[in-house]
Amino acid sequence: VLDDAEVERALVVVAHPDDVDFGLAGTVAQWTAAGIAVTYCVITDGAAGGFDPSLPRERIAEVRKAEQQAAAAEVGVSDVRFLDYLDGQLTVTYELRADLSRVIRSVRPRRLACQSPHRTFDRIGINHPDHIAAGEAALQAVYPDARNPFAHPQLLADGLEPWVVEEVWVSASERPNHWVDVTDTFAAKLAAIKRHASQLPDPGRVEGWLRPRLAAQAHAAGLGEDRLAEAFHVMPTS
Ligand SMILES: [Zn+2]
Repeated sequence: VLDDAEVERALVVVAHPDDVDFGLAGTVAQWTAAGIAVTYCVITDGAAGGFDPSLPRERIAEVRKAEQQAAAAEVGVSDVRFLDYLDGQLTVTYELRADLSRVIRSVRPRRLACQSPHRTFDRIGINHPDHIAAGEAALQAVYPDARNPFAHPQLLADGLEPWVVEEVWVSASERPNHWVDVTDTFAAKLAAIKRHASQLPDPGRVEGWLRPRLAAQAHAAGLGEDRLAEAFHVMPTS
């Protein structure tokens, strides 16, 4: 695992507005505190989310993007890019690989975090098909597309040179190999999650179910009783 001090830029690729905050905002807060410039790439517009019928459906995407921007600010991130794919319909396509390769080549991150491309049998919610597609497409963009000068030739024509992401952090992996103690950034993570008001019918209950999950991950990592952790499978790619 690269030391944070060696990483100038990191890119987080997720399917929906709010995924990064539930998944790894405690870790992102540490990265930005360490001086890493973090960019979010949110693939879908989030328009299939929400719970409140009084919020007109045609406004959901705009509301969710604003929520994601505000959530990003809670953990020190200002560069949020939306690819505006349709929420709920994401599949791994050549076009999506090209779009993600474009973002990778323009951001030029040493470290990239994404969702798991694997279905797990722990919890159904983690297996949203958009998450699986987003994770798979992100990994295909890391290797081989973004580094291959002959993949997506339009990128090179647009002046975007090949780029090798050196390290991938897969969130919500069923076999994590790296844990980040997020006890000190838990408050910032919680604040970021609560920015997604359109997704939270009862924001007061978030901490109650989130804390035990992060505590269980800390326990699995052998951290202390009172610690909280986010878990990843970290993979070098070069
Ligand atoms: Zn999601």
